[in-house]
Amino acid sequence: MTIRIGNGYDIHQLCTGRKLILGGIEIPHELGLLGHSDADVLTHAIMDAMLGALSLGDIGHYFPPTDPKWAGADSLVLLSQVNQLIVSAGWKIGNIDSCVVAERPKLKPHIKTMRDRLSQTLDLQPDQIGIKATTNEKLGPVGREEGISAYAVALLFQV
Ligand code: MG
Repeated sequence: MTIRIGNGYDIHQLCTGRKLILGGIEIPHELGLLGHSDADVLTHAIMDAMLGALSLGDIGHYFPPTDPKWAGADSLVLLSQVNQLIVSAGWKIGNIDSCVVAERPKLKPHIKTMRDRLSQTLDLQPDQIGIKATTNEKLGPVGREEGISAYAVALLFQV
């Protein structure tokens, strides 16, 4: 069996007046993430991991932030398109693992809903998607709550 692995990273600034969308769901918080799309940093890291596994470039190539078409875009729609790309190239996701780094809010209560949402979008079982949450121990821009970052890896196998 031919398998490929990819990794992805993303970070977005926190600001007032925006919703906090992570893993396709809205999380109650007084700050949200700034970005051209819905700024779902976790979903963006996952898409880059999927694209990276097949050397298909990065999300900026497919959904450029300069294109008004993607303004306020639901990142799950973009995720679905990236998945289509992979499926039509003859590949399937084995599993995804990820980590969201945020000082606040506490993400643990939302992880199951995020996994359900992402797995439905990718037509996977929830146990094929790992989501972990950690703080940055108050260090650096994430620790100062200036932003939230996310890391992901994706394992793909050829169908
Ligand atoms: Mg992004």
